[in-house]
Amino acid sequence: MSGFQPTERTQVNRLPKRGHYDRETVYGILDTAFVCHVGFSVDGQPYVIPTNFGRREDTLYLHGSTASRMLKTLGAGVPVCVAVTLVDGLVLARSAFHHSVNYRSVVILGTARLVLDPAEKMEALRIFTDHIMKGRWDDVRQPTEQELKATTVLALPLEEVSAKVRTGGPVDDEPDYALPVWAGVLPLEVAVKEPIPDAQRRNDPPVPEYMKNYARPK
Ligand SMILES: Cc1cc2nc3c(=O)[nH]c(=O)nc-3n(C[C@H](O)[C@H](O)[C@H](O)COP(=O)(O)OP(=O)(O)OC[C@H]3O[C@@H](n4cnc5c(N)ncnc54)[C@H](O)[C@@H]3O)c2cc1C
Repeated sequence: MSGFQPTERTQVNRLPKRGHYDRETVYGILDTAFVCHVGFSVDGQPYVIPTNFGRREDTLYLHGSTASRMLKTLGAGVPVCVAVTLVDGLVLARSAFHHSVNYRSVVILGTARLVLDPAEKMEALRIFTDHIMKGRWDDVRQPTEQELKATTVLALPLEEVSAKVRTGGPVDDEPDYALPVWAGVLPLEVAVKEPIPDAQRRNDPPVPEYMKNYARPK
């Protein structure tokens, strides 16, 4: 897999060795995450809105109500910045200054396009749904014409993209290694708990197989 070309805007400046532009790293982060933060400006006011997304190859799909300001704004061609963050651990150093976080993150710059073609729109919704829970789309009622009309889908091409990754333990100042302070990493991950069946259920289908061992791809 070839890499993304760093641009003046996506060149990681601080600790550039943590910057990555290869598709394997970028896709890995995007496919593990399912929440992104979408930044755009309206009348000089920046907004950053959390939302879900899906990905296929070099396209990120966003969706929501046709009434959504975010989707209306981006659909009109306003430039967007999307950030995706995974927190892998808390890095505890011997000094306050050197505390850190192990993370994997991606920043995407670009301009989204409205997905108008009905087949692409339906496929984007499948990608979006299965991105969050693989296998869900085939299990559920498909969107009606009316539901599709009420839904905007946007496609953001992955062109100007960077990833940044921090791994490993704390990096302390040499004299601080002698301090009697616990130092190391507290690993963190998304925890799956017992499913809670809907209180309004009219029947009792079994917990789907795809949910039983739910885990985000690593
Ligand atoms: C994990 C997650 C996933 C989501 N997935 C989707 C999705 O796939 N599609 C979708 O359309 N929406 C999603 N949302 C909701 C999304 O964040 C917006 O609330 C929603 O898009 C409404 O947009 P709007 O245009 O009505 O908001 P706006 O009219 O733009 O919002 C007006 C103001 O409301 C406040 N506001 C709006 N949203 C939030 C928020 N989430 N938290 C705090 N304040 C807020 C802000 O002050 C904002 O300026 C998700 C939210 C979360 C947290």
